[in-house]
Amino acid sequence: MPKEGLTLLLIECPYCGPRDEIEFRNGGQAHVPYPADPSALSDRDWAEYLFYRDNPRGRFAERWLHTAGCRKWFNAVRDTAIYEFAAVYPIDAPRPEAPADSRPGALHHSAEAPSGSHTGARPHSAEAPAPTSSSTPTGEGGNR
Ligand SMILES: [Zn+2]
Repeated sequence: MPKEGLTLLLIECPYCGPRDEIEFRNGGQAHVPYPADPSALSDRDWAEYLFYRDNPRGRFAERWLHTAGCRKWFNAVRDTAIYEFAAVYPIDAPRPEAPADSRPGALHHSAEAPSGSHTGARPHSAEAPAPTSSSTPTGEGGNR
């Protein structure tokens, strides 16, 4: 069911081009090396591999799956502070050297409300009276 009036974020699939974000699934942090010898890990190390991920504020490389499109995995570098995709690239490519955000204080204004994302506002245009009210006998003069 399409949601009208919502501004959907576009994610650029490297194979299909820009698509709505609802077509994608976030696969978590990218470039997490699989343990060379999982059986040698302690439970704690294994749990860290499974569950512990970096959660930085800023540029973050993630895996994404284009579930409603080509069904391919790819990687994306996303800025977690402003939810902006900086780069997308194939899953087997190295993380691109994104243009460094060398302004230390550049992000401190972005934690406020995202501009223009009024998801609750919906144009209410159903003002026309129901056409069946004139044909029902109880509808006429019923408001006396
Ligand atoms: Zn795709």
